[in-house]
Amino acid sequence: MNTNIPTHAAPRTTADWQAADAAHFLHPFTDFQALARKGSRIITRAHDVYLWDSEGHQLFDAMSGLWCVNVGYGQEALVDAATQQMRQLPFYNSFFQTTTPPAVELAELLAQISPPGFQHVFFANSGSEGNDTVVRMVRRYWDLQGQPERQVIIGRWNGYHGSTMAGASLGGMKYMHAQGGLPIPGIDHIDQPYWIEHGRGMDREAFGLKAARWLEDKILEIGADKVAAFIGEPVQGAGGVIVPPASYWPEIQRICDRYGILLVSDEVITGFGRTGNWFGCQTMGTRPDLITFAKGVTSGYVPLGGVLVGERVAKALIEQGGEFEHGYTYSGHPVACAVALANIRLIRQLGLVEHVREDVGPYLAQQFEALRAHPLIGDTQTCGLMGAMLLCKDKAGPDGAPVAFDASLEVGMLCRGHCFANGLVMRAVGDRMIIAPPLVITRAQIDELMGLIRRCLDLTLADLRQRGAL
Ligand SMILES: *Cc1c(COP(=O)(O)O)cnc(C)c1O
Repeated sequence: MNTNIPTHAAPRTTADWQAADAAHFLHPFTDFQALARKGSRIITRAHDVYLWDSEGHQLFDAMSGLWCVNVGYGQEALVDAATQQMRQLPFYNSFFQTTTPPAVELAELLAQISPPGFQHVFFANSGSEGNDTVVRMVRRYWDLQGQPERQVIIGRWNGYHGSTMAGASLGGMKYMHAQGGLPIPGIDHIDQPYWIEHGRGMDREAFGLKAARWLEDKILEIGADKVAAFIGEPVQGAGGVIVPPASYWPEIQRICDRYGILLVSDEVITGFGRTGNWFGCQTMGTRPDLITFAKGVTSGYVPLGGVLVGERVAKALIEQGGEFEHGYTYSGHPVACAVALANIRLIRQLGLVEHVREDVGPYLAQQFEALRAHPLIGDTQTCGLMGAMLLCKDKAGPDGAPVAFDASLEVGMLCRGHCFANGLVMRAVGDRMIIAPPLVITRAQIDELMGLIRRCLDLTLADLRQRGAL
């Protein structure tokens, strides 16, 4: 045994961790040099809605990790499920006419909690892989319909569908497309239903209809006989918690129906109770053909993702099928599926979907509305336990809409810095500060969170005044 290699259990200081991290670990979505100069924050443990770093600081995790820890940290039922399954059968594949009990049971349970018409699931390991599966499945569907020219999938600018080639292509993050020759062929985008950006001066619901009709314009531009599907997040997450007007999704549904194109609901964030229903499409009133899921399916305790396949596509794949040439080594991984089962059962047992819909969701909405009185806040939006507040220079300009700060101020990052320094994890997307706390959050914890948010907003305000930006 080589005793010179320290094990992870060896006591190390924060500086040791930071040095080793900078020397070897290429973090996702990170400027490596900038992080190395600053040093990573090392998170060492967590419980309920709280995190602790290597210096012993407590943080309120208002982002559920990365939108995923729906049941909160430290749930023993999930730990036990993983342990037992690892002892019993840590891995077997489902490629060669074999299956495992946890994968079968999870498929069955997902069919139970899914909207009507969903009886089948394809397993992957992440949201990105789920959306790669969507691309292949959608195109396979149209091949089987004898319409192989129906190839184009329409997504939205500032949508997020993951970071693989197909996921990043479906998404509308231009800075991602700029690296690696994206989007891949056969993917197109329409503008997002973001009133602040595209709807100023308009009635919000009228704007919702207008934004949905951009889909119809795009379908007609491409030719309906070439369009395979439309994909969207019920509420855009990574794009800044953009909640569309109520008129938007029903109109999108009407347009998809009219041209016979498949509707894909990317529920990687909005699934498993986040919006106050099991799935966000139920909150928005759509009937998608495919639902991508990941994150909350296991509350992030282990990786798992996939696609819920509605009747129309499932019937074609199964009955007209032949072999669908697609899959992952870990499709239906027994440990991940066992954890997902324990997670979904816990969500049910704790009544978390109802807790969000009837209790903490409306309470958060009320608290966010009250935040609008703060001098920095120009707009707020919530949907279930997702919330956004817009930092602005002036609450209302000549068109009645908030006036943005100069982009060079990076006001969101400034605010995020104050949050981190004061025990709060809140994310910045441009000038939008966003939260998506664990679904187990209580009203008292929302009060605590709002206290932290107000404190950080006040510090940001003082900071901006000192810089002469206000
Ligand atoms: C996070 C996310 C993804 C990608 O999931 P990964 O597990 O990171 O691959 C896809 N779609 C949405 C809506 C997401 O929020």
